[in-house]
Amino acid sequence: MQILLVEDNEALATALLKSLQKEGYAANNVATGEAALYVIKTDTPDIVILDLGLPDLDGINVLKRVRKTHVDLPVLLLTARSGLDDRIIGLDSGADDYLAKPFEMQELFARIRVLGRRLNTSGSAQIKVGNVALDINNNLVSVNGNELDLSRKEFMLLKTLLENAGRVLTRDTLESRLYNWDEEVASNALEVHIHHLRKKLGVDFIHTVRGIGYKVNKP
Ligand code: CA
Repeated sequence: MQILLVEDNEALATALLKSLQKEGYAANNVATGEAALYVIKTDTPDIVILDLGLPDLDGINVLKRVRKTHVDLPVLLLTARSGLDDRIIGLDSGADDYLAKPFEMQELFARIRVLGRRLNTSGSAQIKVGNVALDINNNLVSVNGNELDLSRKEFMLLKTLLENAGRVLTRDTLESRLYNWDEEVASNALEVHIHHLRKKLGVDFIHTVRGIGYKVNKP
C-alpha cells in the first residue's frame, strides 16, 4: 500500500515516514499543497494523509480540489487545531477521517487499516482467495487455516495481489506499492519476494504474466 503524507513540518514528517515504512507501507512525503495535487494526479497513492496547515494552500482547499478528480481516494486529515469547526469543515469537504495532533502512532495505524479496508472490494478486514486468507487487522496470513510467517514486504505484496485478484498487476504498480521513492531497490527484488511467497503459498497461487507482471486468479 502506498501512502502520501502531505506535511510541511520536517521533523514530524520524517518521524511519521519512518514509522509508516517500518510498518511495511510504502510512504512518501511532500511539503506543499501544490506538490500534493501534482503527485495525486500523476502517481495516485492508495491513501493520503493531509495536514491542514500547509505553507501554500490550506489543506481544506487541497482536499476540495482532490475531490473534483478523485472522489474515492481515502483522505485522512491531520489537524493541529482542536476546534470542532475545522473537523466539521474537513468532513464536509470530503475527508474520510481526521486525527488531531498530537496522536499516537498506533492510533494512526488503526485509522489507516480502516481506510485500507475500503480498498478491497469486500470492505472487510479479511480477504480470502481460494484457500489463502489474509487478515488486515492482525497482519496474519493463513493457508487452509495454517498460519504463515511472512515478512512485512511479503505481506504487503500478497495483500496487493489479493485485493486485485483476477487482475494482472504490472511490475511498476507492485513496486510503487512496496517501495518508497527514495528506496534503493535491486532490479530482482520483486522476483525474490514472489519466490519466497511461492515457497510459502505453493508454486501455482501467484501466476507470472510474462513481460507484464503477476496475478492471482479468482477461484
Ligand atoms: Ca503544518
